[in-house]
Amino acid sequence: MTVQDQSINFPNTCMLRPLEVPFRYLFGPGPSNVPPRILAAGGRPIIGHMHSEMFGIMNDIKKGIQYAFQTSNNMTLAMSGSGHTAMECAVFNIVEPGESVLVAINGIWGERVAEIAERMGAKVHTLFKTPGGHFTNAEIEQALAKHKPVLFFLTHGESSAGLVHPMDGVGDICHKYNCLLLVDSVASLGAAPLLMDQQNIDILYTGSQKALNAPPGTAPVSFSERACHKMFNRKTKPVSYLLDMTHLSNYWGNDGKPERIYHHTGPVSGFFALRESLAILAEMGLENSWSHHTEIAEYLWKGLEDLGLKLFIKDKDLRLPSVTTIAIPEGYDWKELLAYIMKHHRIEFTGGLGPSVGMVLRIGLMGYNCNKANAAMALAALEDALKQCRKSKA
Ligand code: PMP
Repeated sequence: MTVQDQSINFPNTCMLRPLEVPFRYLFGPGPSNVPPRILAAGGRPIIGHMHSEMFGIMNDIKKGIQYAFQTSNNMTLAMSGSGHTAMECAVFNIVEPGESVLVAINGIWGERVAEIAERMGAKVHTLFKTPGGHFTNAEIEQALAKHKPVLFFLTHGESSAGLVHPMDGVGDICHKYNCLLLVDSVASLGAAPLLMDQQNIDILYTGSQKALNAPPGTAPVSFSERACHKMFNRKTKPVSYLLDMTHLSNYWGNDGKPERIYHHTGPVSGFFALRESLAILAEMGLENSWSHHTEIAEYLWKGLEDLGLKLFIKDKDLRLPSVTTIAIPEGYDWKELLAYIMKHHRIEFTGGLGPSVGMVLRIGLMGYNCNKANAAMALAALEDALKQCRKSKA
């Protein structure tokens, strides 16, 4: 049969039109707008994922993550994938089927990790609070003593509730019970203080698309020596080949072997962008980044209260500076408010997520987006929407 004889489907006409991407102010919980310097880095010509120059860039990324996480862990790398990839990588590599895991659920992220651990055959125990709640060290210790888990999961920046969880002492309690501490900092890294080594965190991960302002699709992660000891002395292989840390540690040059062997093709452009975003954080300095996020968040919180709105997290010290949650103002349809703001101001805010749906509106000002002008723009848009949207009589 010749090519002419074959009947070939025509491409859909959408594929013959140019790509159109509208401009949006991404003031939700992520992704955040990407600054030109990072976009330009991602647009540099591709090189091979196994070229020596690429390994040099990956080494820079490793150093940048070590700084951002405040860790000297050798087993530090970026996952080829979003925050969920790092979440699954941590659970799949640390936990073996049948082992006990304790998950703190005070929003959607604990729910997700519990499900991931359950799917790979772990015995999952949970500590539970409704969104906005947090756990005392005494509550955590009691559960560790009862369930004797190999891993305890806690979300540092609970973006579905807008809560930053206190971390002091949690790592020490985990180690007292011979348990590893896994922390999610996807929404908090760079925005709220977190010190991996000093706070005895064994596994820490984040995402590229929040305060780091890189495009979505890469996820920094780091493992302590204790975590490495557990994951490299397993009886069974992790359920995922792609996320197996024996392979990933070689790909990132962390296993001490002289040769790196092909495992998968990493997102080269995504790594260029991530490198640049970590460089920007290093230039700014972590402490400056934390205090800047707090300063702008406080300006936003005051403006919201001046509009007569109620912040969902009452205690200022527990509010996540990067993602602010507002109790849905009485009488309003939250979906209508969001749609109005998107249509008339080109601004994305979001509603709740998982258990916080119908409870909150969320405004995220992270990294590049975090400045007074954007906070003022967000407040003006919300003020306009509160005037223009229907208020039900009920
Ligand atoms: N954890 C937290 C705290 C998050 O805010 C998010 C993203 N909203 C994730 C995990 C998941 O990250 P991703 O969407 O990049 O997979």
